Parts: sequence; C-alpha cells; structure tokens
Amino acid sequence: MNFYTPVEKIFGIGPIYQKKLKKLGVRTISDLFFHFPHRYEDFSNIIKISKIKLNENCCVKGKILEIKNSQTWKKGIDLTEAIIQDETGAIKIIWFNKPYLTKYIEQGNQVFLTGKTAIGKDGLYLSNPAIEKIGNTSNGLWSLSHSGRIVPIYQETERLSSRWIRFIIRPLLIKLKNKIPETLPEEIRKKYNFLDISQAFWQIHFPDNFKLAEQAKKRFSFEELFYISLFVLRERIKLNQKSAFPIHTNLETIQEFVKGLQFKLTDDQKKSAWQILKDMEKPRPMNRLLEGEVGSGKTVVAGIAALNAVKANYQAAFMSPTEILAKQHFQTVSRMLENFNINIGFLTGKEDKFISKKLKRQTIEISRKKLLEKIKKGEIDILIGTHALIQDTVKFKNLALVILDEQHRFGVEQRAKLVSKKIDEKIKIPHLLSMTATPIPRTLSLTIYGDLDLSLISQLPKGRKKIITKLVIPKERDQTYEFIRKEVKKGRQVFVICPRIEARETDTEISPDKKIKSLSWADVKTVKEEYEKLSKKIFPELKIGMLHGKLATKEKERIMKKFKDQKIDILVSTSVVEVGVDVPNASVIIIEGAERFGLAQLYQFHGRVGRSKYQSFCFLFTDSKTKKTLQRLRALISSEKGMDLAKKDLEIRGPGELFGTRQSGIPDLTMDALKDVSLVEKTRDEAKKILEKDHRLKNFPQIRGKLEKFQTKAHFE
Ligand code: ADP
Ligand code: MG
Repeated sequence: MNFYTPVEKIFGIGPIYQKKLKKLGVRTISDLFFHFPHRYEDFSNIIKISKIKLNENCCVKGKILEIKNSQTWKKGIDLTEAIIQDETGAIKIIWFNKPYLTKYIEQGNQVFLTGKTAIGKDGLYLSNPAIEKIGNTSNGLWSLSHSGRIVPIYQETERLSSRWIRFIIRPLLIKLKNKIPETLPEEIRKKYNFLDISQAFWQIHFPDNFKLAEQAKKRFSFEELFYISLFVLRERIKLNQKSAFPIHTNLETIQEFVKGLQFKLTDDQKKSAWQILKDMEKPRPMNRLLEGEVGSGKTVVAGIAALNAVKANYQAAFMSPTEILAKQHFQTVSRMLENFNINIGFLTGKEDKFISKKLKRQTIEISRKKLLEKIKKGEIDILIGTHALIQDTVKFKNLALVILDEQHRFGVEQRAKLVSKKIDEKIKIPHLLSMTATPIPRTLSLTIYGDLDLSLISQLPKGRKKIITKLVIPKERDQTYEFIRKEVKKGRQVFVICPRIEARETDTEISPDKKIKSLSWADVKTVKEEYEKLSKKIFPELKIGMLHGKLATKEKERIMKKFKDQKIDILVSTSVVEVGVDVPNASVIIIEGAERFGLAQLYQFHGRVGRSKYQSFCFLFTDSKTKKTLQRLRALISSEKGMDLAKKDLEIRGPGELFGTRQSGIPDLTMDALKDVSLVEKTRDEAKKILEKDHRLKNFPQIRGKLEKFQTKAHFE
C-alpha cells in the first residue's frame, strides 16, 4: 500500500462507499488525505460529570453502569437509555434510533461520550452523544479519533459522515506515516518552519492542538500556491522561448475602420488598441489582458486587433465562453467588418456557419467538414466560436492571434492547450489577447494567469447614465412591478434573472464529447415558475419570453433574436445572459434571489443594462434578512467601479466567489490562501528562485513529478 493506492483496495471501503468517494473526486489514498476537514470541534477537555451544565457541548469519560433499549412513547422511535459514571457522579444518556448500540456497548465498558446536554423530567441527560469505546490504547495519543481530543468535522456531502471518514483515514495515516513522498523542498520547509508532509497530514486531520492544525493548513496552502506559481511561471518561460508572427500595424486600414464606426472611440479604447498593436509587432507572443468595465467597449478593440492580423494575411480566432455570446460576437464582428472583404467563420459544438466576402455579407451554412477545410486552407480569416475552437480537429493555416472573451471563464489549461497545440505543429505560436470585465486584483491574476500584460479601459463611452441600483425587499415588490410596467410602456425592455441553484453531482451527465456538463434542471424549474408567475399573474398584458441553458441552440437564438428585435418585453432567464449579452434597449434588470449570486456575477448582470442613452435600473430582489448578505448587496449598490467591488468581495467572501469555485476548480483551501497577499508573494518568490536555479527541475524529481500530475489534473476548470 502506498500514497497512490486506489480506494477500492482499502479494507473497509465497499462498493457503495467507493461510489460515494468517487463522486467527491476521491480515487486514491492521496485524495482521501487531501479531503481536509472544514472545521474542528474541541472535545479535548474531558469534564467531570459533576460539572456538567445544561445545553453544553461536552466530552465525558467514564464507565457504563447500565444500558438498555426501552419502550418508545412514540411509534417508530427506538430509544436507548444508559447511565455513565465517573469518579464525581453519574448522568443519564438517551439515544434515539440507535438500537444497535446495545450490541456494541455493554455494562462495565469504559467509554468517551461527546454531545450536548438537555433537560428531561428526571433532570439533566446527555442527548444522542457520540460514543467511543476505550479499548486497547497501545497506540497512545493516536488511538482516539472521535472524542477526548480535537475532532475533525468534514463536509458531510454524499452522506459520508465525519465519523466514517475519521474511521477510515486514521489507520491509513498511521500505516503510511513516513511513507508519503515529500513535495516541498527541505529549504523551504526549514525557512518557513513547516511540518513535514506526514506530520502535516496527521495534524490537519487529527490535530494535537489548534496551533498545529493551523500550521499544517498553512503548509498545504503554501504548497498549493507554490505549485500554481511554478506552473504558470514555467509556462511563461516556455512561452518566452517561442516566437510569434510579427504583425505590422496597418495604420491606413485601422483609420478607415475607426472612421466607419458610428461612435468615437474613447481614449482608453485607443490606448488599449495601440498597446495591443505594438505587442503584435514583436516576434514574441503577446500575452495581454484587456480589462474593462462591463459595457466599456472591449469588442471593438478586439475587432481592431483581428482586422490588423487579417490584413497582414493571417488568421485570427475569437473564443467566447457561451454559445449565445459567440453568436452575438459573430453578428457584431461581421457587421463591424462588413466593408473589409473578410471571411468570417462560426463554429460551436453544434453548428457551423460562415460569411462569405464574395456573396456580400450573406451568411451561408456549410457542413462542419467544409468549414474545417476552409479554416485549414486559410480561406476563413476570422473564426468565431465557443471552446469548440480548441478541439484537435480544428487546424489553422496561419493562426496569428487568439482572442479570449471573458477570459476568467477559461482556465489556464485551456489556454495552454490552445497555445501548446500550435507549439507542436509549428514553431510560431499565436499572440494572445484575453478580455475580461471581472476585475481581478493584481496578486490574483499574477498567480493564476502568470505574468500577463495589462490594458485597462476605465472609462465608459460618453453619454451613458449611471445605472440606478436598488435593493428590493418583499414588501416593495408590487410597487417595483408597477414601475417596470411603466418602463415597458415607454418602450424599454426588461431582463429577469432567476436564482442560480447549484447543480448537484447527481445532476451531472457525460455528454457525447466526454465533457462533464452539469444539467441544472433545478435552474430550469425556477425559470419556468418565474415565467408562469410573470406572464399569468403580474404582467398578463406583456410579451414575456423564457431562456435557459437546456433549450436547443436554435430555440435560444430565436428567443434572443426576438428580444433584440423588441418582440419580447420581458426576458426571464437563468444566468446564461450573465456575460456579454448586448441589448441596448433593455433598461431594467431584475435579479431574483440576488443573495445567491457572487458579487462579480451580480456585477456582470448589472452590466446587461445601461448600454444606451436611457436611464437604466437594476433591482436586486431578496428575501434574505442576514446582515452579511445585505452588506454584500449594498456593496454592489454603493460601488461604481468593478475594481472596488472586487476588493470588497475578496474581503467579504474570499476569491472563491469572485470566480465562482465551480468555474475555477481551485480548492477552497487555496482560495482562502489567496486572500493572504504576503503568502501569495512568498510562494511566487520561492517558485521563481527554484526555476532560476533549475528551470527543468532536474534536481527536484519529486517536485517535477507532482507538477506533472498537477498539469494533467484539470486544475482550473
Ligand atoms: P464590453 O466591454 O462589455 O464587451 P461591448 O464591446 O459589448 O462592451 O460594448 C458595449 C456597447 O457599447 C456596444 O453596443 C458597443 O457598440 C458600444 N460602444 C463601444 N464603444 C463605444 C464608444 N466609444 N462610444 C459609444 N458606444 C460604444
Ligand atoms: Mg463583452
């Protein structure tokens, strides 16, 4: 048995538990050890029975005087009663529905009990305490896993009890003590006073005291960040050794393009475009992030970069995280560039299209096979789509620029894939332009995305009015609906976003392309209910549409088009409209159950309106009364700039919510650690030092090994 032994080989884990563990992503002993408790309970203080008080969590040690199953006063409840005694006194115990206990515990046994006290008709008793028999304690301290110590509490998902996890992990930890490969260099461990890996695992699961638990946790956080840093820094080193097509800036074409726009570019748009063009002139691959408030006009800047690449006879790819957004980009970019004799292709998982220059802006649909051929021959100048673009079947002739929209949605893995695929094929790799409206604090972006260069669009186009955001509590609903009715009468349109219900693992299914997709049927249900409510009860006279992820692509498009064409007044939707969707006539957005969304997401929704000269409104509907929630929502209302918001969210909820843990795939522990800026900086420094000495990690086989595992694990997505 070793650290990587699969769980099915472990004695005591039968098929049912194997399945449950798999669902948690636990496949090996290593995974099991990395399944950390999320908190602890301190039962290390054993108290004397005579000192027990009412409603107190306590741990007592003593002898069972009697134990019996007794008659229930209610049908269907099994009662087990016992009495425990220590040298100071005795107390009664009552268990519910645990008749099997009498087989396991008998009179005279020495036991630990941990639980809460309650009061009954004969005075104080211990109610449903956890029990642990004190047996052979030759293992000394390590013998107690459930009581008489600090006890780990695990997230009880998949009906895996903390008690069961403790029971499984403890003997394994003992068995593998000193046999776990060390993955932090000794120098670093010494310098920061970290526990070695075996001790750290022990102390994080069964800490001798809280200080040691904290130390262990710190080691693992450090380690995780250290590996992320190593990974991104190494990618950067690799990238810097590659060459890219130097693309000459074609000023004439760009001026023509800018003149043809219906609006004047803002100074920030000009500056960003310029920085991007200058980067692309270099023979090294650009790695730039274009960060700009929602609605600040990033698409047009990307359009300039793509146009410039195409005019130099190269291809560009434009990737979006969702189909709806990809479709929208296909339409905007096609329109934007319609005077430039450019072939634009559209490729998603489901459909293929392209605009031909010869047929003058006509969209024609061709087969996937044909489209792929055209891409390969270089007949498609700009390919727009979803992550279908990074499939191995898509081969370009001379791809020189890749644009990733809303890039926080794409993981490092995917970006690496897109680039490294080209590394294998050709010596030259594409320039990379990522775009995001999620303001990512600098320390985070450095750690997660490596050394990106940054262009900022911090001003919104002229003439935009500030969006009025309001928290709506239940009793203000009706008047808000009245207000909305008036807005619609004026010709405006409305988004209604329904609360996100996190898909449980059981809702997951493997789609034909072998990617796991969550089928959030629960989301669909809430959308349908909201749709019914609004169309039947509240706004029977208005045209209401419904949009969610489970609709067929064609249907989604049809509805989006109807909304854009103003044939729908109110669009009820899941978070599919979260990013990028551009319908300037929409001036009201309602977010139902606002407390369930992360601030960054709320901010994205908020950005769906305020895209025109009309005064826009964002209503955050909430039934929540908790202080913290209301505080968060108020933060959205009071902050004008996304960057402030990001800082606030980081403070209030940690980076997990900024990205959405589901999206990032980054473990909670790491997310927590990312809050600690100085720790982040330290890990980066250490990773840098190691790579400077030995960038192939020849002298660090353990680290290299773990890094390879780290790379193959879909770590960020
Ligand atoms: P985002 O940065 O959120 O991706 P978009 O690129 O979708 O924003 O632009 C939002 C809207 O603003 C679009 O309708 C676009 O045509 C418009 N727009 C972009 N730049 C300007 C500008 N300089 N002046 C006026 N409107 C602009
Ligand atoms: Mg956008």
